[in-house]
Amino acid sequence: IRLCVDHPLGQGQSLPLTEAQAHYLFGVMRLAVGAPLLLFNGRDGEWLARVAEAGKRGGTLTCEAQTAPQRMPPDLWLLFAPIKKARTDFIVEKAAELGAARILPVQTDFTNADRIRQDRLQAHALEAAEQCGGTFVPEVAELAPLARVLAGWDAGRRILWADESLLGAAETLAGEAPGPWAVLIGPEGGFSEAERARLRALPFVRPVSLGPRILRADTAAVAAITLWQAALGD
Ligand code: SAM
Repeated sequence: IRLCVDHPLGQGQSLPLTEAQAHYLFGVMRLAVGAPLLLFNGRDGEWLARVAEAGKRGGTLTCEAQTAPQRMPPDLWLLFAPIKKARTDFIVEKAAELGAARILPVQTDFTNADRIRQDRLQAHALEAAEQCGGTFVPEVAELAPLARVLAGWDAGRRILWADESLLGAAETLAGEAPGPWAVLIGPEGGFSEAERARLRALPFVRPVSLGPRILRADTAAVAAITLWQAALGD
């Protein structure tokens, strides 16, 4: 069992559990006093811990030894237009598994969602990190209009724009430099003409094709992050 906690981790450190964590560990997973589990908090690497006290509403863990150093993901953000609930959950979960460092839902001209449950999506990112062996949980930002995000953009972070209008052979990204990047994925309706013009005019935006077929937005998010990771990730 791997658990993300909100406490410093170190040799001999004692960690109180929340009611939800106690319910999961003792009610669902049936851990008893002395049972081992792995902890991470996004800062101190991964630690082996044991159950010191187990109760219905709480409990305590004791940290024993570090099992892996802290590893930060490559500096890749994901900007995506939220789609249907289950598919949005999928995008966040897969982005966290594939090592996105930050996830920013953006409202575009054809976005069919005008609100998101940021807390739910953050919980999905956390579960994905717990499951996939990562020691880092990407932050999921609140929904923000794409135009506003672009207006405040740091030009040092390049944007890999999955542009469905290109529909050519999939890009290789050969010759691109590593460093801070973001992947941008549109909604099911794609990008509007105004958005395309805006994106084309920005010097830090690199339009890419993901191949000759129109992919669903959730497939496109996975494909684009994978493309970037293969060429520029670590
Ligand atoms: N309605 C749009 C159309 O028919 O042209 C398709 C939008 S697609 C379902 C959703 C998003 O996935 C797009 O905005 C784009 O970011 C990405 N995408 C899908 N297929 C792609 C491809 N072959 N190349 C680049 N991006 C793609």
